[in-house]
Amino acid sequence: MTSRCVTSSVVGSYPIAVSTSELMGQYFTGEEVSWYPYIADAVGDMIEAGIEVVSDGQTRDPFIQLFTRRLGGCRVRARTEIVGPIEFRGGITVADAQVVRRMVLPSTQILGVLTGPFTLMKSCVDLFYHDERACCLAFAEALRQEAAALSWFVDEVSIDEPWFANELPEYAEEAVGVITQGLKCPTRLHVCGDISRIVDRLVGMPVDLLSHEFKASPKLFAAFSEHPATKGMCIGAVRSDDARVESVEEIVTHLRIAEEVFGERVVQVAPDCGQRMLPREIAFQKLQHLQQAKEVVYGG
Ligand SMILES: [Zn+2]
Repeated sequence: MTSRCVTSSVVGSYPIAVSTSELMGQYFTGEEVSWYPYIADAVGDMIEAGIEVVSDGQTRDPFIQLFTRRLGGCRVRARTEIVGPIEFRGGITVADAQVVRRMVLPSTQILGVLTGPFTLMKSCVDLFYHDERACCLAFAEALRQEAAALSWFVDEVSIDEPWFANELPEYAEEAVGVITQGLKCPTRLHVCGDISRIVDRLVGMPVDLLSHEFKASPKLFAAFSEHPATKGMCIGAVRSDDARVESVEEIVTHLRIAEEVFGERVVQVAPDCGQRMLPREIAFQKLQHLQQAKEVVYGG
């Protein structure tokens, strides 16, 4: 067993069914809509599975609207439209992180999760900037302020940029750096999908950790052998797109391969991606097995 401190974590979302009728009821009676029970369910499962760095489960909204609903310049329709300058107007996910902080023991670490500026820009209809880079950097500036506010309550901030797997703009490092530069907690960049073609750029990103889906795409190990990581690695070790629950033994084998490729750079293990699409019971079992496998390889 390796005695290094390697933590178990999540990517972000967790499958908690939000009761629309309950929320509508609260809306019509003018009550403050309470997300507490949903966050409590998600975090409760993560804690029970033994996960050491937990998120709020991203139960509140899909991961684009979660941000655009609370930013100036954005009009939320079926797709968000950008109709003016993108502006930070106060905490977006900060209240949820505070709820988590009150819910967990001081020894539990919390992961703040931001949808990345490029993915936000690509998911919106831009009626204002008419310039992808300007629009992306405006999102990045708003996210910088969110990250700074969030960093008082979380132990790590993850930037989720799935769109980088489709298209990596030449200003990607600049956009990520706007958010991470000067931030007082460690940062992680999560890019899922097939990233084997862009590993040479990813290893130079201005973040502390890289998170990718190594379980669904084991060929990424070979891609990283060609472009050695200079960052800490968060190893995706259970699939998020497949309801089959991997055995502890299978995950242990996967983690030992990661250990051969990355050695001491492995600092975190997690599911491949957010678990929103899985049945809750399956998501929970995957986290349990992930934790047990981590303990076999790295200790508790
Ligand atoms: Zn992902």
